[in-house]
Amino acid sequence: MTEDLNAWIGCDSACPAQAAWLIKLVEGELYFCGHHKNKFEVALDKVAYEMIELNKTEELPILEEAEV
Ligand SMILES: [Zn+2]
Repeated sequence: MTEDLNAWIGCDSACPAQAAWLIKLVEGELYFCGHHKNKFEVALDKVAYEMIELNKTEELPILEEAEV
C-alpha cells in the first residue's frame, strides 16, 4: 500500500481545511486538519495507534525542471 502524502486531502471533520494529519486507527484511518486533530486529540489518543503529520515540507525533495 502506497501513501501519497502530497495529495490534497480534506479534513474528515466536514471542514474546508486541508488535512494535516493522518490518524491511523485499528479499523481504518482518518484525516484531520491541525485544528481538528488538536480538538480530538484526547479522544484519538485512546483509539489511534499512529498519527502521521502530512505536508512536512522540510523532508520533501524539490523537483527541479529538467533542462530542455
Ligand atoms: Zn478540520
